[in-house]
Amino acid sequence: MSFTVDSRGNRSGQYLEQRKPDVRARILRLYILFATIVLIGALITTYFLQSRMKENVIAHDLALARDLVEYLELGPSAVPIQVELEKLVEISGIDGPVTVMLLDDTREILAIDQRDVTINSSFDWSNWQRLVTRTASFDRSGSFFTNDPDGQEWLHSYATFPSSENKLIVQRPTADAFSTSRLFIGGILVAVIIYLLGGIFSWAVLTNQVIRPLEQLERYSERIRWRGRLSSTERRQIDKLKVHEDQLGNLASSLAAMQQETEQRLVQLATLLETGRVVASSLDSTAVFDNIFNQVQTLFGVTRCAVVVLDQRAEVFRIRASRGLSENYTKQLRIAPSEPNSPSMRALRNETPIQVADTNTDLAFVNLQYRAQKEGFRSVLAIPLATQFSPPAVLLLYKSDPYRYSYSEIELASSFGHHASIALENAALFAKTDEQLQEQTRRLEAIVESLSDGLILEGPSGKVLYCNQRALTLLRLPRSQAQAKTSTELIHLLLADQSDPEWVDEKVFDRQFKSRSHALDLALQNGRGKPRDLRIHFFDVNDEQGELLGRGQVWQDITKDKEIDRMKSALLSTVSHELRTPLATIKGFATTLLADDVKWDEAAQREFLEAISLETDRLTRLVQNLLDMSRIEARVLTIQCERYSLNELISQVVRGFGSAIDNPISDSELRDLPPVWMDVSRISTVIRNLIENAAKYAGPDMPIEIATWNDNGSVLMSVRDYGPGIPSDLQQKVFDRFYRVENGLTRRVGGTGLGLAICKGFIDAHGGTIWVRDANPGAAFIFSLPIDHNCNEG
Ligand code: ADP
Repeated sequence: MSFTVDSRGNRSGQYLEQRKPDVRARILRLYILFATIVLIGALITTYFLQSRMKENVIAHDLALARDLVEYLELGPSAVPIQVELEKLVEISGIDGPVTVMLLDDTREILAIDQRDVTINSSFDWSNWQRLVTRTASFDRSGSFFTNDPDGQEWLHSYATFPSSENKLIVQRPTADAFSTSRLFIGGILVAVIIYLLGGIFSWAVLTNQVIRPLEQLERYSERIRWRGRLSSTERRQIDKLKVHEDQLGNLASSLAAMQQETEQRLVQLATLLETGRVVASSLDSTAVFDNIFNQVQTLFGVTRCAVVVLDQRAEVFRIRASRGLSENYTKQLRIAPSEPNSPSMRALRNETPIQVADTNTDLAFVNLQYRAQKEGFRSVLAIPLATQFSPPAVLLLYKSDPYRYSYSEIELASSFGHHASIALENAALFAKTDEQLQEQTRRLEAIVESLSDGLILEGPSGKVLYCNQRALTLLRLPRSQAQAKTSTELIHLLLADQSDPEWVDEKVFDRQFKSRSHALDLALQNGRGKPRDLRIHFFDVNDEQGELLGRGQVWQDITKDKEIDRMKSALLSTVSHELRTPLATIKGFATTLLADDVKWDEAAQREFLEAISLETDRLTRLVQNLLDMSRIEARVLTIQCERYSLNELISQVVRGFGSAIDNPISDSELRDLPPVWMDVSRISTVIRNLIENAAKYAGPDMPIEIATWNDNGSVLMSVRDYGPGIPSDLQQKVFDRFYRVENGLTRRVGGTGLGLAICKGFIDAHGGTIWVRDANPGAAFIFSLPIDHNCNEG
């Protein structure tokens, strides 16, 4: 259905186009059709009647002429003919003007009697008379019509005497002859006209009295249908129609009632829609309740209303929101869920609205009467709110006077109740969702904050939106400052120590914007001047549609990875070097021994074989060191402890060196020690490594001093030499795998950088500690072993 809306907002359109044909016109059409039929019927009847009556008159006059002829033929001849004629005219039974003429056979008038007729003897009239007599001579009897010189029509009837050829003519004006038939026709016509006029009058009365008011009512009902209300003039018109004590009056009354109801419904609908709009647009249940209270007060004329909700902790219903109720009542009202007579609880239990029309007379309200009287209400309507996620609740309407709500009012109040329940549900769901969201956000934040990599997120403008803790640590900035900068400024800050700013610009900023996602490795210095390797991953942050939301950077500290890389290459070069030297020696001596052209004496052979054996031992130690290191690294080192004397073990190791070391070793500082738990072979490796290092780095003939002592539950051993010592900043590093102090001495003496790392691994496994200190000159390596720690038990 299509509509148009005119400038005043009135809808018109198809309903107007679809209006049925006008009843008035229909009735008029029917009437015209009927009147036409009546008219035609009347005309036809009149025509036939008139013809018949004329024929009768003609036949009557002819019969009269014949009768007169017969009478005159048989009658007494003594009476003068003129007298006879006069007599005959008298008895002819003809009223009105008539002429009876007697003609002889030469058409001369023998006698004539005229009544009420004057035929003058003028020429015209004589001619006309001759015409009549001549025409009458054509036949023996008959009738014919003529017009006299005055234009008056005449009926002539004639008959011939049987005995003579005399003729008798009876003539009279047709106006008189046919007057009866004309009167009759006139009567019929008047009747028809009266009938037709009566019809038109009835139509006009019907139109005025019935159809027009009906049309008005129809128009008003259409208005109500489309506009929902009437203007004051239209309403007055309807009021006028209402006074009719007939069906029209009833119709007008029902239309007025309908209009009133429609207006009321429209107001209700508008308020419901408004409430719906507030419910849909607000998550604030207080705002929704406020709106509902406003509407409820207007529509139901209630002064007080409230929403009671179950307080789940206290397990009682309390007023959550109210209007018009006293503060005392609002604060103090507590309804136990088990209360049998409370309208709210009954409504919730029965899941249907409950009303107390008069609190003073309702038997179920007897116990609560005091409450009602104090607050000043006489009727209560309780609408249960259908809630699923929020606690049970009831909408309450109070009136000061007794009142029984109609079915439609309860329906309407239930609609408001429905809105109130949506508001409660929305608020509950929102709180729940909000809580979940907050929880999720907290979790995500905790994850991102505890990342070991720095994370920076920037918006499309480059402004930093987020910076995690690790990034802040790397930048040495508080969060507020970091998030006030752009990501470019942050990178500048991070790379402030970088010597070549052009390189930074080229590497970081140019490439950052050229390629969408890439990584860049940077070698920096940390706060204490230590080298730090950083890998920056740049990436785009897009939404589901692929739209760019911003950019991100992950700052990954790869110092350790780089270190491992360095260690791997160090291992490769060291191992290959350390393997090559003894292998070359072994190969050299073996080749020498196998040479056919030289005959070596026994002493030389022994010397060569001892050299081969020595180099093989070196190889074995190297392999053993690598194995031990890999075990320590993989944390699968197993130690078999026993109680053993450290001093005893030192003596054994020193004895074991034999002539392999030509440094003087002093063991005068060995104190008495209790036996300690130790894996004898591992600790002997530690002692050997420390003494070998002392000999190796101090140089030949330099003394090596060994001391042991007992302190604080541990036994300690120190190996001191008089070599170059170890710079204090590297004293920790020398215990790292593959680490070797970079100097000429180290390069000259060779090594793998594993010895001290293995020592540390072994001592740690015993629960002890190893360290180095400046002995000035030289270095002193010290380790401790706890006396009572049984390393077999972990
Ligand atoms: P290697 O001796 O095979 O190089 P170590 O782990 O035993 O490996 O020693 C690591 C580094 O510590 C050596 O390269 C050396 O620079 C230094 N170092 C060890 N012991 C001494 C020492 N007694 N005096 C001076 N420097 C030493």
